[in-house]
Amino acid sequence: MYKLKNHMEEFVLNKTDEILKLMNICKCEKCRLDIAALALNELPSKYVVTEQGELYARAMELEQQFDVDVETAIIKAAVVVSRSPRHSVTE
Ligand SMILES: [Zn+2]
Repeated sequence: MYKLKNHMEEFVLNKTDEILKLMNICKCEKCRLDIAALALNELPSKYVVTEQGELYARAMELEQQFDVDVETAIIKAAVVVSRSPRHSVTE
C-alpha cells in the first residue's frame, strides 16, 4: 500500500514541539498549530510516496537537509504567534 505524504508537515510538527519546549510562550494546541502552519507556509512542501518502513529513511535524509531552515522558520513563526495569539488571553 502506497501513500502520498507531505513529509515536511510531520517534520515541522515534531520540530515545533521541540522548539516550544525551549520557549516561554503559549503552548496550547491552537498556538502550536498556528506556529506549524505559519512555518509550513514558509517552507517547501516535500511530497514523498511512501511504503511501510520506507518513511523513516526518507525522514532522516530530509531532516539533515532542512534542519536549519525548518528551525529558523518555526522560531520566526513562534515569535509572530506569541505576539498575537489567535485566542483570548485567558484561554
Ligand atoms: Zn495559545
